Amino acid sequence: MATLHSCIFCRIIKGEIPSYKVFESSKVYAFLDINPLSEGHTLVIPKYHAAKVHELPDDYLAEILPAAKKIALALGATPDDTFQYNLLQNNGALAHQVVPHVHFHVIPKPNEDEGLGVGWPQKESNFDALKASHAKILASLENKL
Ligand code: 5GP
Ligand code: ZN
Repeated sequence: MATLHSCIFCRIIKGEIPSYKVFESSKVYAFLDINPLSEGHTLVIPKYHAAKVHELPDDYLAEILPAAKKIALALGATPDDTFQYNLLQNNGALAHQVVPHVHFHVIPKPNEDEGLGVGWPQKESNFDALKASHAKILASLENKL
């Protein structure tokens, strides 16, 4: 597991590794992805080392989406459909996370070929299964909130 000192994104925040910064605040840093899926692909990260979202303090988390929104607007988002994009956030290797420091991807989707491709292997509707998982999640939330 990456420590604060070896984490590549912590080193980018500190300026030890160069990056094309597009936005910075006291809690957030945003920069261009080195291997973009499309032009403008940007990573928005907290200035706090946590591998996964559930490990990140809320005050850092709260600044990330407004920063991602600023970046989407800077990349060309408007009320119409001209500019389309995905926000992506992976937690864990199985979930396609490679760098273990929380990051949100802002990925423009200019056409079918560039940007994010998504697999969406949906299961058949099963209301008994939904009811059971609903009850399980509500019980767990009561314990954790
Ligand atoms: P993940 O799969 O963990 O959600 O995505 C990690 C992203 O970080 C990848 O899209 C990868 O291209 C990007 N990345 C990894 N190392 C560096 C780096 O040193 N600099 C920049 N700018 N991006 C990086
Ligand atoms: Zn880190």
